[in-house]
Amino acid sequence: MSENIRVVVTGVSGRMGQMILAGVCSNTKTRLVGAIEREGHDWIGKDVGMVSGSTNLGIEVSADPASVFKDADAIIDFSAPKASVQFSILAAELGIVHVIGTTGFSDHELVSIGNSGKKAKIIRAGNMSLGVNLLVQMTKRVAAILDDDFDIEIIETHHNKKVDAPSGTAIMLGDAAADGRQVALSKVRDSGRDGITAVRNKGDIGFVSVRGGDVVGEHDVLFAAAGERIILRHIATDRAIFVRGALKAVEWGILQAPGEYSMEDVLGL
Ligand code: NAD
Repeated sequence: MSENIRVVVTGVSGRMGQMILAGVCSNTKTRLVGAIEREGHDWIGKDVGMVSGSTNLGIEVSADPASVFKDADAIIDFSAPKASVQFSILAAELGIVHVIGTTGFSDHELVSIGNSGKKAKIIRAGNMSLGVNLLVQMTKRVAAILDDDFDIEIIETHHNKKVDAPSGTAIMLGDAAADGRQVALSKVRDSGRDGITAVRNKGDIGFVSVRGGDVVGEHDVLFAAAGERIILRHIATDRAIFVRGALKAVEWGILQAPGEYSMEDVLGL
């Protein structure tokens, strides 16, 4: 391996891709070696620094991940589910680190990523921030202590461009609450209420998605019983928290054996 960790950024023109690009270029331990966008994107063939409004970085945006990944130690990927699945297959062929921030995967896609984890070093998290990963731990603990007299609802708010709901973070929190109660989330999940829904089932874990404006990401885990409520809350005000987490994941992942890991592994929680 070269002195610096050689990193490719995928979905480079996106909200997260642009911040990851800046993070990789300013971090002393990483070196940008590639930038990927989807086929047909305006930026293909152009210098990634120039189209991002900074200086020439000497790296053209490419739609050919197979050839670009060959020179990389790690991929940082905040793109789209189908693309991330393809990237993980390529990462497995090369045995490199694949940090996946993308959310909204189907169960089938998650199985495919799990298979890639036999050969690639995959770190996947619906949320890369330290604060949210702590919130996940707290949610699990509180859910384990309180019985189902406490209704659990997960309320998430995001910007109006977000394409998946509930958010990946909300699902992480739902899984943690279900784990705490020792049930499978799929058995108790209650999403998308509308109309005459009948009364709430005891033990269900409810999800509410709010979309508007430029909200980076807010998550409340509500435990509501007769006469009292507990609310665990995380508010993200800057996407830099996800960039810090993704860079930490790259540095940690490079030292690991192939496998599928989470941010809880990276942060030692
Ligand atoms: P965005 O729409 O701004 O960016 C996505 C980018 O991926 C776009 O530039 C798009 O052109 C590109 N893309 C799509 N298909 C591609 C392909 N086949 N090859 C290469 N590039 C492709 O979205 P965003 O806000 O940057 O979020 C991206 C993903 O990251 C979403 O799934 C979002 O939920 C997730 N996210 C995760 C975290 C976390 O901490 N895990 C934080 C923020 C966002």
